[in-house]
Amino acid sequence: RISENSGVGSRILVFVRLRPMAKKEKEAGSRCCVRIVNRRDVYLTEFATENDYLRLKRLRGRHFTFDASFPDSTTQQEVYSTTTAELVEAVLQGRNGSVFCYGATGAGKTYTMLGTMENPGVMVLAIKDLFAKIRQRSCDGNHVVHLSYLEVYNETVRDLLSPGRPLVLREDKQGIVAAGLTQYRAYSTDEVMALLQKGNQNRTTEPTRVNETSSRSHAILQVVAEYRVKDAAMNIVNRVGKLSLIDLAGSERALATDQRTLRSLEGANINRSLLALSSCINALVEGKKHIPYRNSKLTQLLKDSLGGVCNTVMIANISPSNFSFGETQNTLHWADRAKEI
Ligand code: ADP
Ligand code: MG
Repeated sequence: RISENSGVGSRILVFVRLRPMAKKEKEAGSRCCVRIVNRRDVYLTEFATENDYLRLKRLRGRHFTFDASFPDSTTQQEVYSTTTAELVEAVLQGRNGSVFCYGATGAGKTYTMLGTMENPGVMVLAIKDLFAKIRQRSCDGNHVVHLSYLEVYNETVRDLLSPGRPLVLREDKQGIVAAGLTQYRAYSTDEVMALLQKGNQNRTTEPTRVNETSSRSHAILQVVAEYRVKDAAMNIVNRVGKLSLIDLAGSERALATDQRTLRSLEGANINRSLLALSSCINALVEGKKHIPYRNSKLTQLLKDSLGGVCNTVMIANISPSNFSFGETQNTLHWADRAKEI
């Protein structure tokens, strides 16, 4: 949906992706409470009791509709083509774009963004596409693709490609930058998956769950593509565009504390960035002039990629299990709201 008042294509597209039922959920007797129809409509059903097989009672049914909704059989390539391929095109025209994955822990955000070696996700497929298209279009064979991969955890910014001390955010001519952040020059797609997998392993874990990424960690991949093309008058013009791909922290805690103000959360620092992102999206939805980007590290970093002359895509990830009914409902409400921008 392209908003009418913006010739350049400032808009937000909202998608929903349903993941398959996990073995564990099946074994625990969970039932599917989400139905996707016509690749757009999402029906959510609440059951009377979670394990009542005989007297299934539909209590409340909710219906939502999005730019597209992906059933659990959807491939990574289909998700990429529908949600992000157009943004890659915009980036090659010299604009900025961003893709967010939003949803509760376990809903499929990291699978959608990063994926696995066998089934690479949006991050890898976007870079692959970017490389292929730049090679076709570059007028002189010179092109540069830089990657940086960083984490926001408890309002601390860390370099995932070169872990070490927290990074300081500075404002310069280009906007907000993380001082000293690695700009990795990528030459081919092949190296990228391994690099990102390794970066992902550098994300913060909770002391109690050492092998699991903390549900409070946001991972941001920024890809800057630069190349030269000949314009209509045969002049050589430089094109630079930036694509940000964001695997957000689990939304469950933010939702649980949504009523409280940011200020009262300062001590806990729980998901300040996620709440701030929600505030920015609300302000954009309401057409406010002042967008509170300064409230968190995440929103500062994404200031040039949200609203304004850029393209934004939101992918809301949901689980099919009725055990996650509440989280799924909250995620769908949030996504429904984001649609209005
Ligand atoms: P999140 O990052 O939102 O916490 P994950 O992406 O880690 O969730 O997904 C949780 C589990 O479900 C993982 O084991 C992941 O491989 C699996 N999974 C998620 N989405 C899919 C999918 N579309 N197809 C197959 N497996 C998936
Ligand atoms: Mg994850």
